[in-house]
Amino acid sequence: AVTDSLTGLFVRRYFLVKLQEELHRAERYNNILSVVMADLDQFKNINDTYGHDAGDRALRAIGKFLQQNIRDVDMVARYGGEEFVIMIPEAARDAAHILSERLRKQMSELKIKDLPPITISLGIATYPYDGSDIEDLIKKADAAMYAAKRAGRNRVVKYSPDIPMVRESNTEAIEN
Ligand code: GH3
Ligand code: MG
Ligand code: MG
Repeated sequence: AVTDSLTGLFVRRYFLVKLQEELHRAERYNNILSVVMADLDQFKNINDTYGHDAGDRALRAIGKFLQQNIRDVDMVARYGGEEFVIMIPEAARDAAHILSERLRKQMSELKIKDLPPITISLGIATYPYDGSDIEDLIKKADAAMYAAKRAGRNRVVKYSPDIPMVRESNTEAIEN
C-alpha cells in the first residue's frame, strides 16, 4: 500500500521513490529541493496521559492538518510512528523555512478535541546546498530536527555544518 492506514498519508517507502524522482528533476533543471523532517514533541506523554487511542486520534488529526496545509506541489508522508516528512520543490531558497515556520505555528494552535496543544519540531535540508543524494538530505534534515529538539522543541532548524549528525541509521531503522 502506498498510504498509511491510520493517517491516510503516503508511507515512507513511496515517499522515498517520489523524492528520488524529484531529485533527478531538480538535477536536470537546476532546481532546488528541500526535505523537512518533523517529529511531534513529547508525544509519549499524550499516550501515557490520555491513552493510545487518543494518541491515534491525534495522529489522524495531525496528518489531516499537514495534508491540508501544504501546497499541491509539496508532498507529505508518515515517516515513522509520530514522524512526518515533507518534500518541497521550490525555486526560492527560504520557501521551505517559511512553510515550516507556518506549520509549526499553526500546529501549536491546532485544536484536537479533549487533548492539550501538541507541538512539532522541524529540521530542513536543501539540495544542492546541504546534500546531493536523498539519504544525505534525509540524514541532515533529521540532524537539524534533533537540533530543534535540543534547543527546546516547538521550533524550526535549518541544517548547517556545525550540527552534529545524530541517529545515522534513521533511514533504515524506522519501519512503518
Ligand atoms: P520528543 O519530543 O523527544 O520527540 O519526545 P517523544 O515523547 O515524542 O519521543 P519518543 O520517541 O520518546 O516517543 C514517541 C512516542 O510516539 C512513543 C510512541 O508510543 C508514540 N507513537 C508512535 N507511533 C504511534 C502510533 O501509531 N500511535 C500512538 N498512539 N502513539 C504512537
Ligand atoms: Mg516525538
Ligand atoms: Mg519520534
